Amino acid sequence: MNPNIPPSTIRRLSTYLRMLDVEVAVGTANISSARLSRLSGFSAPQVRRDLAYFGSFGKRGVGYSVGRLREELRAILGTDQPRNITMVGVGNLGRALLAYKGFDRHGTRFTVAFDTDARKIGSKVAGVPVKPLSDVERLVEEHGIELALITVPAAAAQDVVDSLVAAGIKAILNFAPRSLTAPKDVKVTNVDLAVEVEYLSYSLANG
Ligand code: NAD
Repeated sequence: MNPNIPPSTIRRLSTYLRMLDVEVAVGTANISSARLSRLSGFSAPQVRRDLAYFGSFGKRGVGYSVGRLREELRAILGTDQPRNITMVGVGNLGRALLAYKGFDRHGTRFTVAFDTDARKIGSKVAGVPVKPLSDVERLVEEHGIELALITVPAAAAQDVVDSLVAAGIKAILNFAPRSLTAPKDVKVTNVDLAVEVEYLSYSLANG
């Protein structure tokens, strides 16, 4: 990753991409930074600044070609090539995420999932086979998997990280509510919807 590009810019690029997906679907050929700003909720100068990090895609008076900008953003985000991902923990949350079609639409797809519960091993969830965690090293290599989602109970999460790291995984999205330790070359991102709800609750409490 280019260290000069702020992570906040990278996250906004994903938002622009979602907007462009919709514009492509309705047949829009060109889009101005003003429209991208209205759709995304970020200011037009912010949109222009973000896109300028990656070269000049737009033409004055015409705006950006929707198709070209979408391809460029996908290339920058690395979602232009299919990427195999995995999930560890096929419980309530794991099952819901495996069934979510949005991952597929954005270039990533689950090829295998892992659990330790003998009743789940050997089953398929949304067409994805559930395998024993003890097979993780072999299957991660076989499927060329680089990214894993963790949806196990908090108490099991660190052991799962250690297994994934040993298997060569370099990027982890953790849903378990605890902080995890991984080597420097492994990127770990945490998602906690309760934090988002708490933030909204704070907003309500503070007008
Ligand atoms: P669950 O009990 O339904 O599922 C957990 C699954 O993990 C089970 O299938 C279990 O067999 C499996 N498991 C346990 N230990 C394992 C191990 N060592 N290796 C592989 N699999 C293992 O729980 P859930 O409701 O799906 O929640 C899963 C996790 O996600 C919890 O940590 C929960 O707190 C968290 N969660 C986070 C959010 C969020 O917004 N981040 C939302 C909901 C749940």
